[in-house]
Amino acid sequence: MKSDRGLSRRDFIKISAGSTAAVALLFLSFPAFDGESQAEAAQEVQEIPVIWLQGGTCTGCSVSVLNSLSPKIQNVLVDEVVPGQHVSLRYHATVMAAEGELALKAMHDTAKKKGGYVLVVEGTIPTKDNGIYCVIGEESGQELIMLDVVTSLSRDAMAVIALGACSSYGGIPASSPNVTNAKPVKEILTSNGITTPVINVPGCAPHPDWFVGTVASILVGGLASVEVDSDGRPILFYGKLIHDNCPRRGHFDAGRFSQKFSDPYCMFKLGCKGPVTHADCPVRLWNSGTSWCVGANSLCIGCVEPGFPDKMSPLMSQAQIYSVTPPEWLPPAEEAKSGSFNPALAAGLGAVAGLAIGAAGVAVAKRRENKQDKPETES
Ligand code: SF4
Ligand code: SF4
Repeated sequence: MKSDRGLSRRDFIKISAGSTAAVALLFLSFPAFDGESQAEAAQEVQEIPVIWLQGGTCTGCSVSVLNSLSPKIQNVLVDEVVPGQHVSLRYHATVMAAEGELALKAMHDTAKKKGGYVLVVEGTIPTKDNGIYCVIGEESGQELIMLDVVTSLSRDAMAVIALGACSSYGGIPASSPNVTNAKPVKEILTSNGITTPVINVPGCAPHPDWFVGTVASILVGGLASVEVDSDGRPILFYGKLIHDNCPRRGHFDAGRFSQKFSDPYCMFKLGCKGPVTHADCPVRLWNSGTSWCVGANSLCIGCVEPGFPDKMSPLMSQAQIYSVTPPEWLPPAEEAKSGSFNPALAAGLGAVAGLAIGAAGVAVAKRRENKQDKPETES
């Protein structure tokens, strides 16, 4: 059967095996274009081929990134992200039209360009029993094991983007008891002596902007332009504490805490991990600027941090913070509602508390600087 653009189904599948047209056609109602116009486009712009592997994952990272609205995902994957350069998604098991060995051929063909492609890894990598618990395909009767494919493809990649909490730090599949001995990408590369740079873009799921922005940064300024923190995350997106930009921070400083999820106060005592979590969710917002976890009366559960979810569990327990916990004697939210709460007094107490907390923070910082652990009562 031929489409009204003269493309047979067989031709379509062949083209889609090695192109992003599949993503656009299947999910985004993007108009079909033929192989010739693709070739012409490729001559005009520099193409960055991408192989996207999925290991121990719920596919939520793919879903999140495909929801990118500004720029739209078809602009990211088909058009020029920045003038003169565009990403060419060659392999993505969930969205590509091709399947079986035809799909795998696209992956192998892309990998021939040594040092010329980006490898995106979504999900963690089981290693127990030589990784047999995560098979991503079959070729010539042989199972393709995620552990082997990641090890092989990362060796010659220009860079590896570990997308999501699982791929970056282990996430849910690597949480206790971790029966498959699942590991994050960086650990796999390090244990195999592979030095390809790894950029972690954590989150459960990651914000589409964090991925798209990282890719755009690589295209504009090269790998070196992506400044990362000590956990391998781009500082551009993960450089600030959630707590420092939270609209409820004033309530925290004044000691007004929500007792239940519908209260409009600070959610620290319900288990919010904002004070120990680094991301720009309060200012970037999710779903095209609609809201974010705390804004929706939920908790920040620290989904971008190493050790998530074990380190953040139980999710409704209070985060362990060392310098900014407000004093217990400040009035909780319940008193505010019962009528015994004096806003003027609370404001004054809040100011005092803020000064005290600030002073305590400076004191702690100084103590840390000097590597001393003595109480400050010495005079
Ligand atoms: S503890 Fe959570 S809710 Fe409270 S100010 Fe910090 S980030 Fe916001
Ligand atoms: S607010 Fe916290 S839990 Fe929610 S997405 Fe951001 S980092 Fe993850």
